[in-house]
Amino acid sequence: MTVSITSSWDDGHVLDLRVADMLDRYGLTGTFYIARDFLDERMSDSQLQDLAQRHEVGAHTLTHPVLTEISLEQARDEIHGSKIWLEDVLGQEVTSFCYPKGANNLALQQIVADAGYVMARTVDKFTFSVGDNPYCVPTTLQIYPYPLRPLPRIAFWRGWRSRLQPLLDALPTLRTFRLGAKTLFNWQVFAESLLQTAAQENGIWHLWGHSWEIERYDLWDALDNILQTVAAYDNSQSVTNSGLITHS
Ligand SMILES: [Zn+2]
Repeated sequence: MTVSITSSWDDGHVLDLRVADMLDRYGLTGTFYIARDFLDERMSDSQLQDLAQRHEVGAHTLTHPVLTEISLEQARDEIHGSKIWLEDVLGQEVTSFCYPKGANNLALQQIVADAGYVMARTVDKFTFSVGDNPYCVPTTLQIYPYPLRPLPRIAFWRGWRSRLQPLLDALPTLRTFRLGAKTLFNWQVFAESLLQTAAQENGIWHLWGHSWEIERYDLWDALDNILQTVAAYDNSQSVTNSGLITHS
């Protein structure tokens, strides 16, 4: 039983550097997807250069549009333009791309391939392999409040489904892989169960998230604990996102 460990971090917030330090501490490599003009608190060019010495840095468009909601011509500018911009900043080739909000289709996948990327990540969850299409790569789980989504004051009868969404999303996976009842209540237990399942499948455990959400929901300890666990796992190997494609 072997498992490939990877993680990816979207948007390029300066708090990504804290994630990167944590990954370094446990000898893990991750992929950081940067949108050029999206966050006010984006990492500086020199911070990106430093990050690229230690981890993979991938493109996440220029302005973070939902690519399925703009013209293909605009999408081409976002997909090609972000590769050119980032390669110019980093002085090295950029081969991984991530669709904002995961939104993609066949035409967009083709544009990504034509631009010269080797892979593109979505936000699909609860899978343990890359699948057949390197331009539609899913993940295993997101670091996010679980089992309940915190919501601002909202009437219970209107908001319960939204509040329960993280658990509702996970339920089919819990059933399919017969994960224990304990996984219903705790994100770390759930994440560890998915690691065991990934190992049983000789597959991939791919965590993704936003560092600004880790801060907002106070999930730094949860992240630290799970990274420590996966790094210590027997027969695991750490890879970047593009490594999932090039090593397979
Ligand atoms: Zn994003």
